[in-house]
Amino acid sequence: MAIGTKVGAMKEKTKIVHAGRDPKSNHGAVNPPVYHASTILYPTYEDLKHPKTRVQYGRRGTPTVFALEDAIMALEGGAGCAIVPSGLNACTTALLAFLSAGDHLLMPDSAYGPTRNFCNTFLKRMGVETTFYDPTIGADIAALMTDQTKVVFVESPGSLTFEVQDIPAIADVAHANGAKVILDNTWASPLFFKPYEHGVDVSIQAATKYVVGHADTMLGTITANEECWPLVHAAHGQLGLCAGPDDIFLALRGLRTLDVRLKQHMKQGIELATWLGERDEVSHVLHPALPSHPQHDIWARDFLGASGLFSVVLNPVEEDALAAMLDGLELFGMGYSWGGFESLVVPSNPARYRTATTWDVPGRLLRFHAGLEDMDDLKADLDKGLARLKAAG
Ligand SMILES: *Cc1c(COP(=O)(O)O)cnc(C)c1O
Repeated sequence: MAIGTKVGAMKEKTKIVHAGRDPKSNHGAVNPPVYHASTILYPTYEDLKHPKTRVQYGRRGTPTVFALEDAIMALEGGAGCAIVPSGLNACTTALLAFLSAGDHLLMPDSAYGPTRNFCNTFLKRMGVETTFYDPTIGADIAALMTDQTKVVFVESPGSLTFEVQDIPAIADVAHANGAKVILDNTWASPLFFKPYEHGVDVSIQAATKYVVGHADTMLGTITANEECWPLVHAAHGQLGLCAGPDDIFLALRGLRTLDVRLKQHMKQGIELATWLGERDEVSHVLHPALPSHPQHDIWARDFLGASGLFSVVLNPVEEDALAAMLDGLELFGMGYSWGGFESLVVPSNPARYRTATTWDVPGRLLRFHAGLEDMDDLKADLDKGLARLKAAG
């Protein structure tokens, strides 16, 4: 039973506005109502025995939940969509759906830290072995596949360091060996990378980031192709996962402006990265949309755009100088969860997380999120920050 408007033939921007909405069945209200429901009542004994409706039990979804599922599927593709309480939970649930004791998992060395941690702790305890691999490995991943390899996880570009992966080449090898490809598609969002056109079987989003877009709600989504959806759906049900209706409402509200926001984040991100790359204090920039990026060609081949998240490597400075720069910033907040309307910066040391590759870049890494503020104000804030860095160094 479709909840929202039929959006199949619409262009993407129109889908963003209309998918999952059905004002006619909601007294004309533009946005879907927030259903707070656990108990669902059945009108007759016959209905109880053989339910005819999609809404059957609060945890398994209400029209509010189905509206977001339908909207995400309209944009990302896939045969089904599950909504979960966080982006990390989308990663862990997708992995649990396909892995059993004795199985082997391949995980990029540049993966989001908490996803990595889940492999090294929970999955290890459950008897699943993880091998971390160089994210730029491409088709050479064949050398790491074993008869037990059930999942090849990809995240492109990588968290913090922005390596772009050759997902079609990796997917070909994975499929030839009977393994499934699970993608963390958070950076690109469903608009800038189309997972099911590049060999991905299951795609997750930290909807917390750009879908919600306002830095105020935790939420995750998992879509899957026809073959993989039954296992994802089963795992989601068996684990008893669901998200709160008010949070889902905020995700639906955020989604309607995703296209305009993301294009502006992209523009501002490229401009900031370029500007930073020209500064003496900066050694180099890690932004897939810049021609200087080592896998820029793969990004240009596979992606439809870039989000506002990128990193720069500073020339070596003492920690005091870094603190002087960061502490005085007025517009760039220091915080980890990104994708909201505001600009952010966090220092990080990728070397701490690596095992399959080494990160021996001498300078400190700063990860930026380009928000929607005026570019002149953002540059002036950073200009003063870099002056403090220089003065303290
Ligand atoms: C933030 C993030 C997550 C986790 O999302 P939460 O909603 O914070 O749990 C997963 N993957 C990537 C790439 C992220 O940036």
